Amino acid sequence: MEEAVTKPTKKGGGRLCCICNQRRAALKRPKTLEQICRECFYEVFEEEIHQVIVDNQLFKPGERIAIGASGGKDSTVLACVLAELNRRHNYGLDLFLLSVDEGITGYRDDSLETVKRNEVQYGLPLKIVSYKDLYGWTMDEIVKMIGLKNNCTFCGVFRRQALDRGASLLKVDKVATGHNADDIAETVLLNILRGDIARLSRCTSIVTGEDGPIPRCKPFKYTYEKEIMFTYAYFKRLDYFSTECIYSPNAYRGFAREFIKDLERIRPRAILDIIKSGEDFRISTSTKMPEQGTCERCGYISSQKWCKACVLLEGLNRGLPKMGIGRSSRGLNNDPKKDKDIKQSNGTKSIENKQCGSLDF
Ligand code: SF4
Repeated sequence: MEEAVTKPTKKGGGRLCCICNQRRAALKRPKTLEQICRECFYEVFEEEIHQVIVDNQLFKPGERIAIGASGGKDSTVLACVLAELNRRHNYGLDLFLLSVDEGITGYRDDSLETVKRNEVQYGLPLKIVSYKDLYGWTMDEIVKMIGLKNNCTFCGVFRRQALDRGASLLKVDKVATGHNADDIAETVLLNILRGDIARLSRCTSIVTGEDGPIPRCKPFKYTYEKEIMFTYAYFKRLDYFSTECIYSPNAYRGFAREFIKDLERIRPRAILDIIKSGEDFRISTSTKMPEQGTCERCGYISSQKWCKACVLLEGLNRGLPKMGIGRSSRGLNNDPKKDKDIKQSNGTKSIENKQCGSLDF
């Protein structure tokens, strides 16, 4: 935590804030390395996010917006900042907190207690949707059946849909998620490493899912994790939950995360540069992209006959959990031509979801 905070020098000494030139600097901004005071940091941090919202027209007056809330640092800061900007700049938004309860004892039950406190602290109505209600299974039950391999595939696929289902119950126009610049840079890197062209083309978009039931937006697209956690949340003493999921494998993404942190240490702009590289990739027009349709079973968007959640669920219910994993998932969606043409179409190993040491959807 000390990394971002300027150590006091002599009594009464220390540098002046390079913005106001009046107060003592309290921290070095991770993003720009400027020495600034707390008050100026709050101001620039919040106004940069406001500028991102305005420049990208993320919201329209009168819209209902659900904030994907896990109780983690990113979504807690997002709730705090959006509630503040909505008041300060008269966005005219109806804000809600939307949480997904995966049914993970000792993790999600505790983090949901944090979200319930956030509901009171920020005066935002909270809706919780659970895997048990939606799918008839908790993650605890799924892990009992399948073990700790592929558990995040089930969880990620179910969460994506659960969030959409919760959003439609709330009748919101959009879901705002707490994905930050570090998450997006990691995802760019992981998609390159996996050669996942379909995801690479959309992972840097600040708004996604416009062709789906409810679009999602990322107001923290350019916000550094260090500024969210070590500075804003820390100085403001926000109430957030920081324990990792007990089922987190944290392997592949963890290495990418460490690599990016190393780059950031040498060159703070590296995170923004990777996002820029991701944005500048052009997908060749000859690359076959998945065609969106709807799941024959549940009506959710899908590029296959059955959506991934239905395939996984069918496997669980039949006692054949591997049915939806990798190549074995083809049985229910059998279309060899499509399989050949579109290798990544149905998201067996989605990496859009943060693997959830700090899960914020
Ligand atoms: Fe689900 Fe995340 Fe836990 Fe994996 S790490 S089981 S995706 S909450």
